[in-house]
Amino acid sequence: MNQTTDPVTSEQILKAVDTVKQERPVYTKLLDFYGPLFLAQEASTARVRIDPIHLSDDLLSAKAEAQLPLINLPEFVVDLEEAKTVLGEICDIAVSARSDIGDAAKTLKTRLEGGHIDISVLVQSVLGDSDAQLRTAAAEIGIDATVLSFILYSSIRPSLSVCAADLSRHLQQQPEWHQGYCPICGSPPILFVLPEEGRRRLVCSFCWHQWEVLRIGCPFCGNRDSGALKYFIPDGEPAYRVNLCDGCQKYIKGIDARETSHFVYPPLEQISSLHLDIKAAEQGYQSGIPMALPE
Ligand SMILES: [Zn+2]
Ligand SMILES: [Zn+2]
Repeated sequence: MNQTTDPVTSEQILKAVDTVKQERPVYTKLLDFYGPLFLAQEASTARVRIDPIHLSDDLLSAKAEAQLPLINLPEFVVDLEEAKTVLGEICDIAVSARSDIGDAAKTLKTRLEGGHIDISVLVQSVLGDSDAQLRTAAAEIGIDATVLSFILYSSIRPSLSVCAADLSRHLQQQPEWHQGYCPICGSPPILFVLPEEGRRRLVCSFCWHQWEVLRIGCPFCGNRDSGALKYFIPDGEPAYRVNLCDGCQKYIKGIDARETSHFVYPPLEQISSLHLDIKAAEQGYQSGIPMALPE
């Protein structure tokens, strides 16, 4: 099954979340929040309406030549009405799941409904990676900036996926891409997936596009020296592994889709493997992506 293109069903997500909760009960509280969040995001993805991004043939060949991604983050098109709708839903989910961000979510929703928030400005600050703008907005709303950034990003993720899926049609005409950064948006990978023997796919940390890369090599520094590349498989979790690079001291978590007990849904894998981030950090390695999850 090609998990990059097939639409994900809510049943697949629910089943996978339940299996992970049974196998790793320590994640139950977190997944009581993330399970409904994933369902809301997938439902939103089906409703997103955006104009396709046009890229000329000249631009495409120049990008391929320079090994540049198709777009920069601020060029993502977001369905703002849909983002607003799902933002409200995510706030409700945070409250009913008694998430630690529940209070902030409540405040944010009240301000949104009161018309005190310009969602387009906030979305641009996430896409433009403008920390200062986000911090100012968060202070005005009266919530933590990390929480604001997390909820905003979660609300635009459906639009990002739709954009990425639409843009990926251009990749078919582009030469093969083996870079460690996303061919769509240039972001670093958050995970890798081994779909079958000898193949490896990286998953983008921003738009969640998946692309095939060589089986061996560090995505962050390009190191292919096997002496400087290590990995560990956590005890009792044969489907998971963490690749460590002594070239850049970074690590990436991975999942072997042939070994898992459940459907591989990368956002779920990311959040339910935080213990592996701790293990890698204990061994002195750093994440290849900024880790800014709310507590
Ligand atoms: Zn991407
Ligand atoms: Zn490296």
